[in-house]
Amino acid sequence: MKIKEILAKTRPVSFEFFPPRSADGIPDVLEAISELAIYSPDFVSVTYGAGGSTQAFTEEITLQAKNDLGVEVMAHLTCVGQNQEELDRVLARLEAAGVENIIALRGDPPRGSTEFVAVEGGFRHASDLLKHVKSNYEFGVAAACYPEGHTESVDLTADLEYVKKKVDLGADFLVTQLFYDNQYYFDFVDRARAAGIQVPIVPGVLPVLNSAQVRRFTSLSGSNIPPQLDVLLDKYADNENSARDMGVEYATEQVRGLWDAGVPGVHFYVLNRSYSVSRILDNLQIPGHTRPN
Ligand SMILES: Cc1cc2nc3c(=O)[nH]c(=O)nc-3n(C[C@H](O)[C@H](O)[C@H](O)COP(=O)(O)OP(=O)(O)OC[C@H]3O[C@@H](n4cnc5c(N)ncnc54)[C@H](O)[C@@H]3O)c2cc1C
Repeated sequence: MKIKEILAKTRPVSFEFFPPRSADGIPDVLEAISELAIYSPDFVSVTYGAGGSTQAFTEEITLQAKNDLGVEVMAHLTCVGQNQEELDRVLARLEAAGVENIIALRGDPPRGSTEFVAVEGGFRHASDLLKHVKSNYEFGVAAACYPEGHTESVDLTADLEYVKKKVDLGADFLVTQLFYDNQYYFDFVDRARAAGIQVPIVPGVLPVLNSAQVRRFTSLSGSNIPPQLDVLLDKYADNENSARDMGVEYATEQVRGLWDAGVPGVHFYVLNRSYSVSRILDNLQIPGHTRPN
């Protein structure tokens, strides 16, 4: 089913995973997906790596989640390292396998590079990929957005213009970059609506798993750490279990605040660790997404 249709009926709860570096890691990712499948996600997604075999693992895990675990899926696709012909081959395989949803992204530069460089015959921006997908395929298509602005954008206004371009080209909905202060999300939605963006904007939430990792991710994504979280990250810097427990509590309150404010769904960045997201969902007791008795 297209996620657009799911969004018209309900407020989806969805989970994002990433592909392993080698094929040996595929069963672990599938296990994490099946551990969370008991919470009846409306869809799951698997990120697309910067090259090599992990891109094939993304496809494999996406298809196994759909066919073997019976979960609706959204395949991530990026402009990194593949030209249009190569991307068309991926899209044709996904289409033939019955995948109905794509999130069209530019992608992060491969490890070791700091700047995105389009490959010969490839796409420069997510909007170029999105336009190609919308013109040639029947997929439902999502796109990314950044409540605190994308790190490369000149300013928030220019960034929003490019998000609007993706929506005008046919993105059915947007999924946000991680943020730890809900006010950034609410302000972004207000600015997006004022700019004429009407599609659902689904918040992406990353529970803290350990302090160093959150500091690294936020510095890469340009997301701010609110003072109260900053203190907690310092407090639990050397204690991963306590940091994870704190992350469960923090994300529970963060998602409760978003959900109660009427967000159109929540997309959890699971990082292939099911423990935190299951505890958060146990805390929240969202109807339709509770642990079976
Ligand atoms: C929900 C979500 C899922 C993600 N999944 C993945 C994944 O699977 N794999 C992965 O590698 N990365 C993933 N990312 C990270 C993402 O690829 C990076 O943040 C990347 O740097 C930007 O991707 P984008 O699709 O937003 O690009 P774009 O929309 O192309 O934007 C990138 C930058 O270019 C600017 N821009 C856009 N269009 C134009 C234009 N026409 N002219 C000039 N400037 C322009 C934007 O303001 C922005 O600064 C994900 C991010 C999110 C939020």
